[in-house]
Amino acid sequence: MFDAEKKIWEVIIVGAGPAGLAAATEMAKAKTSVLVLDRKQEIGCPKRCAEGLGNGWFKRLKLKPKKEWAVQEIKGAQLYSPNGKSVKMKKKKVLGYVLERKMFEKDLAINAVKLGAKILMKHQVVNATRENGLVKLEVEVNDSKKYFQTKMIIACDGIDSKVARMLGLNTKNNLKDTDAGYQYEMTGITGYDENLLHLYFGTDVAPRGYIWIFPKRNKTANVGIGIGAYEEKTAKYYLDKWIANQEGLKNGSIIEVNAGGIPVGGFLDKMTADNLLVAGDAGHMVDPIHGGGIGIAMEGGKLAAKHALTAIKKKDYSDKQLNAYTKDWFSSRGKELMRRLKGRHLLEQLSNDDFNYLAESITMDEALKIGNGTLTAKDKVVLGTKKLIKRPGLLKIMMKYFNDKTE
Ligand SMILES: Cc1cc2nc3c(=O)[nH]c(=O)nc-3n(C[C@H](O)[C@H](O)[C@H](O)COP(=O)(O)OP(=O)(O)OC[C@H]3O[C@@H](n4cnc5c(N)ncnc54)[C@H](O)[C@@H]3O)c2cc1C
Repeated sequence: MFDAEKKIWEVIIVGAGPAGLAAATEMAKAKTSVLVLDRKQEIGCPKRCAEGLGNGWFKRLKLKPKKEWAVQEIKGAQLYSPNGKSVKMKKKKVLGYVLERKMFEKDLAINAVKLGAKILMKHQVVNATRENGLVKLEVEVNDSKKYFQTKMIIACDGIDSKVARMLGLNTKNNLKDTDAGYQYEMTGITGYDENLLHLYFGTDVAPRGYIWIFPKRNKTANVGIGIGAYEEKTAKYYLDKWIANQEGLKNGSIIEVNAGGIPVGGFLDKMTADNLLVAGDAGHMVDPIHGGGIGIAMEGGKLAAKHALTAIKKKDYSDKQLNAYTKDWFSSRGKELMRRLKGRHLLEQLSNDDFNYLAESITMDEALKIGNGTLTAKDKVVLGTKKLIKRPGLLKIMMKYFNDKTE
């Protein structure tokens, strides 16, 4: 049909974000020929992210924080209710980091290339077709076109994902489970503890979502908002309105503007097709409660690579072979995310009064356990009988959340 580059790549990964780079690293480690294509001109730039990553992910992904990209140590969080009251938890130990994502992703890329991967930036995939058991990609590079061929595609092309759709897999997001994110990286700002993540709740502040300050050292921070994508007013409207009333922020300077969608649910029940696996935001792999996706995307990318490697070993790139990836994903992470999606749907029912009451009655440890879904049976009894009992409506919502048994 067209003259493709002669080389047949074992795998081509579309998207050099956390998912794509994690997948590329695994493929390269296994000495597989792997090419990563990304339409951006610079890895990690512009970011669409508040850049927070908890310690759990560092452990799970065997990442070691480096000074050049783990730029701010985080030791806790402060949650603010609509009436301005807050609950705060600050530990002595480091619980996570705010990253300089551009540097983080470049580091991942350098490592993947050291191991044998090839990366090409400013390469936008505009078409993908199957031919004789292979996938042929049409790629725009500036004003010209290039063509590549491969046995398998790992689509890690983020929330705008089109590549999987080109190959017949529907990865469309539904509006109900999509958040609109808007963020400024601001500098010259004050009035917040740089070792804490600051989260502001309330239906007037951020309907179905929250505003955040994620500090990045030197009076600089990501100040952003995530709200339901179907809200009448835009995320920017709510963020600007809120910043205008914050003494320490309103005179700060904006050094970067970031906007992007966040797939907070609507999980795919199928993440493969012939010659295709999908991972990261493209596969809706994001925590539905707080919208974090860096760690999950990397975990998804690694798992996709594991299944791609099995397919290579078996010389079988069919959907029938690759589909084990979907099952594996749901048993290792997807099931937990589905439970958290249900949790989010319940938490969305909380009113401003409920938030105010929670801020006054629960501890930060309890708040974090509620958010992370890690309350023990004893915690639930204490919360239910000693604290929430005074607000029956709230108790009903929370008990549904606590007792969810999504399998
Ligand atoms: C405002 C906001 C704040 C967030 N804050 C956090 C946070 O603090 N912590 C956290 O963990 N997560 C956060 N997230 C989520 C996180 O950014 C994503 O989950 C994560 O980036 C997903 O990684 P990915 O590799 O799947 O996709 P991406 O990082 O989106 O990478 C996809 C890549 O694919 C490329 N691409 C797309 N289409 C094509 C094409 N046709 N051809 C070639 N290349 C293509 C893009 O250029 C891009 O580089 C936030 C998201 C938003 C929007």
